[in-house]
Amino acid sequence: YITRIEVIMINRKSRDEIKRMRHAGHIVALVHKKMREVVEPGISTKELDSIAMKIIKENKATPTFLGYSGFPACICASINEKVVHGIPSETEILKEGDIIAIDVGATYGGMVGDSAWSYAVGNISEEKKLLMKATEEALMAGISKMRAGNVLDDISGAVEDVANSYKMGIVRQYGGHGVGHVMHEDPFLFNYRVGDQTLIKSGMVIAIEPMLNLGCDEVVVLDDKWSVVTKDGKPSAHFEQRTGAGHPGQGDGEIRGAGAVCLPPVL
Ligand code: MG
Ligand code: MG
Repeated sequence: YITRIEVIMINRKSRDEIKRMRHAGHIVALVHKKMREVVEPGISTKELDSIAMKIIKENKATPTFLGYSGFPACICASINEKVVHGIPSETEILKEGDIIAIDVGATYGGMVGDSAWSYAVGNISEEKKLLMKATEEALMAGISKMRAGNVLDDISGAVEDVANSYKMGIVRQYGGHGVGHVMHEDPFLFNYRVGDQTLIKSGMVIAIEPMLNLGCDEVVVLDDKWSVVTKDGKPSAHFEQRTGAGHPGQGDGEIRGAGAVCLPPVL
């Protein structure tokens, strides 16, 4: 007889798959580079979405988010208290002092690029600056633990420690994930320690994506069924980057040793 057990299937990517993932990531990077230029008071999140769409199509990729579980756009645009999954809108206009998290995905050659970055709109408060700094630092701390031989909890713990050192709230219900042939592959990655001893092996690619809040941990989903906002209305930041555990000895400058390899988007 067969006993059913729950098995998580973590894909390990080949060199060729990694190459295509880098290409997809490069396209995502081009979008972020442009977002950095155009995010300013007066622009709508719908305009940002259109610009992103144009870049993705020009580069012969497809917008991964569009139609994903019915999502109606190719970026998620999440302003201030919105944490993730904000739907771009013509009537949502950026204003001085806002922060906006832009998450974007591009599929190229059957492989997915997925990255989020938070941007300041003009001059922002010191506390918002600190929130963005903490979240970016948490991402980098997580990336530093992405290496063959470590376990998932090493990444989660590194993210958690940075968040705690800045006394930021950590969003609990959402986290990172395996990424590759589709946007969300196994495993799920928590942004705080849960004791997950899943071994990281070469060829695994994981999107690490801390979401930190200036206030409490709790979030709620709005009536649009997508937008996730902080329960206390305080600002939230989101940074996401795909990172792979290298194939040892590959030595191509992209896959270094057994350590973390950041597949762009940061140009
Ligand atoms: Mg994403
Ligand atoms: Mg993601």
